[in-house]
Formats: sequence, structure tokens, C-alpha cells
Amino acid sequence: MDKNNQILSQSAQFVKGVGPKKIKSLNNLNIFNVRGLLFYFPRRYEDRSNLKKINKISVGSVETIRGRVLAMGLRRLQGRKTIFQLAVGDESGVLYGTWFNQPYMKNAFKLNDEVILHGKVDRYSKLQINSPEYEVLKSDDEDTIHTGRIVPVYPLGADVYQRYLRSLLKRTLDTYLDEVIEFLPPQMLKENELCGIKQALANVHFPDDFKQLETARKRLIFDEFFLLQLAIAIRKHDMKENIAGIGFKMRGELLDKFKKTLPFELTHDQRSVIKDIEEDMRLVKPMNRLLQGDVGSGKTIVSIWALVGCVQDKYQAALMVPTEILARQHYHNIAAMLEPLGIKVVLLVSGLKKKEKEETILLIAENKAEIVIGTHSLIQDTVKWKKLGLIIVDEQHKFGVMQRVKLRKKGRAPDMLVMSATPIPRTLAITVYGDLDVSTIRQLPPGRTPVETYWISEKKRNDFYVFLKKKIKEKNQVYVVYPVVEKSKVLDLKAAVKMYEHFKRDIFPEVNVGLIHGRMKDEEKKSVMRLFKAGQIDILVATTVIEVGIDVPNASVILIEHAERFGLSQLHQLRGRVGRGRKQAYCVLLSEAKSEEAAKRLSAMTKTNDGFKIAEVDLLIRGPGEFFGTKQHGMPELKIANILSDRQILLDARKEAFALIEQNPAIKEQKDNPIISEMIAKFPQNQELISAR
Ligand code: ADP
Ligand code: MG
Repeated sequence: MDKNNQILSQSAQFVKGVGPKKIKSLNNLNIFNVRGLLFYFPRRYEDRSNLKKINKISVGSVETIRGRVLAMGLRRLQGRKTIFQLAVGDESGVLYGTWFNQPYMKNAFKLNDEVILHGKVDRYSKLQINSPEYEVLKSDDEDTIHTGRIVPVYPLGADVYQRYLRSLLKRTLDTYLDEVIEFLPPQMLKENELCGIKQALANVHFPDDFKQLETARKRLIFDEFFLLQLAIAIRKHDMKENIAGIGFKMRGELLDKFKKTLPFELTHDQRSVIKDIEEDMRLVKPMNRLLQGDVGSGKTIVSIWALVGCVQDKYQAALMVPTEILARQHYHNIAAMLEPLGIKVVLLVSGLKKKEKEETILLIAENKAEIVIGTHSLIQDTVKWKKLGLIIVDEQHKFGVMQRVKLRKKGRAPDMLVMSATPIPRTLAITVYGDLDVSTIRQLPPGRTPVETYWISEKKRNDFYVFLKKKIKEKNQVYVVYPVVEKSKVLDLKAAVKMYEHFKRDIFPEVNVGLIHGRMKDEEKKSVMRLFKAGQIDILVATTVIEVGIDVPNASVILIEHAERFGLSQLHQLRGRVGRGRKQAYCVLLSEAKSEEAAKRLSAMTKTNDGFKIAEVDLLIRGPGEFFGTKQHGMPELKIANILSDRQILLDARKEAFALIEQNPAIKEQKDNPIISEMIAKFPQNQELISAR
């Protein structure tokens, strides 16, 4: 650790005004050391710099005045209520500050004190401000911090008040700012038009004007992005340069046979992503690729191609998916396709019987299982692989980065392909998946008619049932989806079950209605899905267990109840369950959306079928943090930067980080290097990400 960090790592208790009790309250705000204080940024700012003469202020506006205390007094009202009043005058007039039930305020002022008051002006019999922000000026202290300037407003916590924090930050800056060391090289500052770190810290807390603030913020935003991208750059560099992987041939008899059995002609996009993957797999470096493609774009066949390429060279391959239903579905399809070619495909999910599971684990350990399809069971410690060469993670957005890393450790630098049907806007992609190469399928397989989407209200429910009856008569199958929200799980589930019974008994007595939900036993779920697939269930009432990957081409109508309760990406995923066959498909959103946000989501759904557009809108509505839970993705929380509004700074910072590692890859071992030490101080998690292979 360099000197810079040592001093800044001192407990915040070293700062005057922080006692053993206060430090606990500060800890609750994630402030532990001096660095934590310096980097505790204001939530917003208030412009109190515009001082006015008292005769120029207007009633009803927020104003700032400066004057002397002419008189003050504390009065008791009935009961224990009190009122404290302060008369402040300048050469133009008098204004009163009033505090109710804060008798101690009388100790804050003395007659003749020079003070600044700030707040909303009222007029009763006289001009007054209720509970104004105030500051008493000392003759030797021209530096006001609470009023008369642009004032920082900090996020607060229990027992941590605004004035306290402001004074504390001021003291911390006065004492420690000199100790902060510039860690970026002058060249980088110059080229990116960035101010120095000391200036940035001083001005982000107490800016003289908004231009200064902007300059300060730019530097701090750049730092956050830069240090984050640095870890990503190091990881990517390691993968490409430092780790010996497996060089697959990607040709041979088995692959040839497989190509002959393809049930359809591949689309142009499918061929082009297969080419990317083949090139990666041939290199003696670990593949680290993200394959993104909208729901139904045909990612599965691409992944099977890679699986076969791996088995061709006598390595084992794993396919990890988020749910057991999906694992079974993939297992069913892939085994049917590949076992005739003599490939041993096995299923590993937690729902297996004990004996089956043990047998499967043994097959894996002895390299008798060539392709293993499963859920997170695959990363359990009991599973030992003999010769793992390729890992494919489907619906990647359901897994975290660390799960990806854990699975990779199961083999010796295996290739990895992650697939996602939630297209990720570029700025988010380079933040969350910045270490991966990206291939994209944009085109849907031929012969699909786009799903028609409607948003209807409760009033139209019966009309819709009439339409449904007609569709079912024409041999269409239907999903009815119910939201089950974690908070009200039991109630929701009851609602779904009730709906199912209502359908069966009252609305559609003449057709077959089925039910599937997350609380059912595996066996039950399996048999319901089998009946649905075989066409023996016409209407399947489901909770979101059908969300990902389920493929029943004859299902062509999906009704989503309480559609306002689903996120946009989730709605799009659900819609992807239909429109997989030749028939015109319909997605109907039933909702009395009350919030504006929900209305935006639903109307976006009716306007476009393009998953990429949906994702952009989703990101805009929800903001990056919520987009899909960044924590789950192992992405550290950003304190000041925003990947949407600070997009350009992100791109610049990424460029610098990658250039730095390109020029000087050895830097990452130099823990004393100011840049590396700053990175670790700011994002301790990065250390894990870098060292994980
Ligand atoms: P996803 O990308 O959502 O995983 P799938 O791989 O499940 O999509 O493919 C969706 C459907 O499209 C499947 O029924 C699959 O058999 C079919 N499909 C995939 N590629 C083609 C193609 N090139 N031509 C025709 N149908 C295809
Ligand atoms: Mg899929």
C-alpha cells in the first residue's frame, strides 16, 4: 500500500468531531475511513449563493439573506410548545426566523451576530422564514458552508444530520485533502480534459459555481469508470495472453454427421456466430464469448454445434440453464438429436432421485458422460469433471458473474460461451460483460409472423374469452400467465389456482385446462408440460415458471394477467413463448395500469417486437441499477457515475483502461502502483474478479 492509501485508510474517527458513537452512525452510511468521507458525495446541491436585500425578497420564494441579529426571544405556548424567534436586519429591512419546538435554537445565536438565513419566505404580520437554514458568520471565517453559496446536500442516516455532515466534510477536506495523491498520469488528464483529483474532491463538496462542479464531477465519474474498466481490461488480457486454453479442431467425422442431421437451414446470422465461435474454439486460448439473440432467434442450435465440436475432440461439455424445466427440455431435444450419433448426453438437476444422481456424477467423473445438461447443480462441489472443455451458460442474465467464474474453475481453462435472450444495450454490456467478446443474432428464422400484441382493460375480458374460444376451436394452444410476487407469494398463488378453477368450471368447461406453478413437485410439472406439448391441454394457467426458454410451437396465444406487475424484459420473454410456429400469434396484456411507468412498459410492448428496442426502453425506464439487479452481476455499485447519462465518459475511460493494459500489462502485479492501489481501494471486489480464472 502506498502512503496515500495509508493515511486515507485511517479510521474516520481520526477526524475531529467523530466520536465512538458517531463513528457507528457513519458506518451505517458505509463510511469507515477518511477515504470514505472524502468520497461521500452530495446527493444534490442548493444554490444559496444569491444573497438578496431584505426589501428585494419575494413572499413564496426560497431566498437567502444576510444581516445582523437585532433581537431574539423564546416564548412558551400552551402545553410544552415553544416558539423561538430571531429578528435579522440589513440596511433595507427586517426578517424573522421562526423555530417551533426547538427551544435550544436560542443557544445558536447571540445579539449582533452576523448571520445568513435561507428558506421559503412567508408573510404573516411580518416577513418570516420558518425553520430557515442558517449560518452564523465568524469575523475570521469568510468561508460559509451552510448558506450564502452553492450548498451540498448529503444523503443522511440515523443520527447523522445535514449540518453535521457538511461541517465534517469541510474539516476532513481541510485536514486531509493535501494527503490525496494524484494517481492518473498528466498525459491522461490532459487528453481527457480532466482536472486534478484534489481540485475534484474540493469542488464536488464545496463548489464556487456550477461550472466548477461540472469539472469536478467529470473527473470523479471518469475515475469510477476507469477503475472499473481497468479490472475488466486486466481480466480480458489475462484470458487472451496469459492462459493456455484448449485448441479444438472443430472438424471431423462427428461434426460432419451432425451437420447432415440439421432439421433446417441455418440463417445468415446463425452461420456468422458459429464462425465466431469456431474461430475462438480453435485458438489455444480460453473462449470468453457472449452470444446474444432475441427470444426465438435460434441460439440453441448454435450451442449444440459448439457442444459437438467439443465432444469431437474427446472433451466433455456442460450446458447450464436456470430452471429445471428448461434443463429437461434441452436434455430431451439434444439427446434426441445427438444420441443417434453415439454421443452420451446426461441430465443433472437437483430433482433427480439420489441413485440416479450418484450414477450421473460417476459418469461425469469417468468421462463417460460427454454432454451434461443441468441447472446450478453443475457447479456443486460433488461434481468432478474428468476433462471439461466447454461450458455453455444459457439465459446468462439469470446467473451471476461469480457463478460463471465458479463453473470455469471446474476445468482447466475451458472455453466458455454465455447466451442471453435479454439483449443488453451497449453501455451496460461493456460494464457488466466488458470482459467478453460479443456475437449477436439479429435475424429471426424464416416463416415467423410477428406476434400481435394488445393491451386491454378488465372491461374487455369477456370479449377476449369469445376470441379465445374461437382460437381453441381452431386448435391453438394458450398460455394464461399469473404474476407471483415474492412479497405476496401465498396470496398470488391462491389467485392463480382460483383462476384455473374458474376457467375450468365456469368459462371453458368444454376444453382442457392445465395448471403449472413453482410450488408443484417436479414430477407434476414434468407431466403437465408433457401433456401441453402433446396438445392434450388447451389452456395452460401458469406462473412465471414458463418464462424462459420453453418451446411449444403450437402455442399461439398468451394472456398475461396483471401485466403491470411484470418488468418489461420479463413481458418480452413471456411473449417469446408464442409465435414459434406458422400460425399468427397473439399476446394480450390485461391490465388496469395505474402508474405512468407501467403504462410506458405496456405501451412499449404493443409498439415493438424488437428485443433490443425493448431493452433500451427498459433501461431508460428503470435506470441501470434496477435493469437487472447489478449486484447479482457482481458489478460494484457506482457512486457518482451513471452509465446512461455519462455514456461518453464511460467510453473514453474504457479506451484509456484498455490502452494502459495493452502498453503495460505488468502493471497489475504492482500493488504499489498508485493506479492499481486506487483501484483496489475503490473496488475491493475487483481483486477477486481479476484473480479468478
Ligand atoms: P432461442 O434463441 O430463444 O433459444 P431456439 O433456439 O429455442 O431460440 O429456437 C426457437 C425455435 O426456432 C425452435 O423451435 C428452433 O427449432 C427453431 N429454429 C431455430 N433456427 C431455425 C432456422 N434456421 N430455421 C427454422 N427454424 C429454426
Ligand atoms: Mg434458448
